[in-house]
Amino acid sequence: MQFDGKVVIVTGAGSGIGAATAKRFGGAGAQVVLNDRTREPLEAVAAGLDPGRVVLQTGDVSEQADAETLIAAAIDRFGRLDVLVNNAGVVPTGPILEASVQDWRKVMAVDVDGVFFCTRAALPHLVQAGGNIVNVSSVSGLGGDWNMSFYNAAKGAVSNFTRSLALELGAQGVRVNAVNPGLTFTGLTQDIKRDQELMRRFAERIPLGRGAEPEEVADVIAFLASDAARYVTGVNLPVDGGLTASNGQPKQA
Ligand code: ADP
Repeated sequence: MQFDGKVVIVTGAGSGIGAATAKRFGGAGAQVVLNDRTREPLEAVAAGLDPGRVVLQTGDVSEQADAETLIAAAIDRFGRLDVLVNNAGVVPTGPILEASVQDWRKVMAVDVDGVFFCTRAALPHLVQAGGNIVNVSSVSGLGGDWNMSFYNAAKGAVSNFTRSLALELGAQGVRVNAVNPGLTFTGLTQDIKRDQELMRRFAERIPLGRGAEPEEVADVIAFLASDAARYVTGVNLPVDGGLTASNGQPKQA
């Protein structure tokens, strides 16, 4: 899959899935516009890419003005926009009674408002280019987790926003898809990786027996964004080693 001449925005590109996605598109010829809250991690990601095809744009996707500035930066520098990868997110955990109203507002602001603001600002340009959107939802957007109600609510919104927008925008030639990663080894999940007993329990639930590397999610994002997926829109594609193929019943010997 090559993206020569295509312009791709990746939000939350400073780490994990976003960083791997930025490298995946940049390595395949795309001009990339990379967003995160701070500059240092973006510089580390950009170090491996052709400087003539990279723009770094810090900003908070939960602020509408920052989202608009991000999209404008892509248009100013490269004159078009082909792909928006809405990846920036936060992952709160814990029982509902231990969380505050501010905690709720924070996850909704970043994980839901952020997707809306970037999408809204990008759409006129995506329509013009016949482009597409890939939202990074989660397996947590397809069902419930224990003690992750806020995250489940936020990612459930992203999953269904994806479906609805695909219906609305199909006639204008804009595809909208989501990936739904399961356990992925990023900065956020280092603690899980170190916990051998928890890793064993994950492995028991995952048919492929392990978590994903960020590059394995980035490959699927690139596929959905590519012409190879030109007849695919409105999907929530699990990238989960088979986790969600289960109906939840325990493994029997
Ligand atoms: P994962 O790759 O598993 O989705 P990460 O935490 O590694 O998880 O990546 C999420 C990225 O999103 C981080 O780089 C983080 O800095 C970024 N991010 C979080 N909140 C915002 C925000 N409000 N605006 C822009 N980027 C954000």
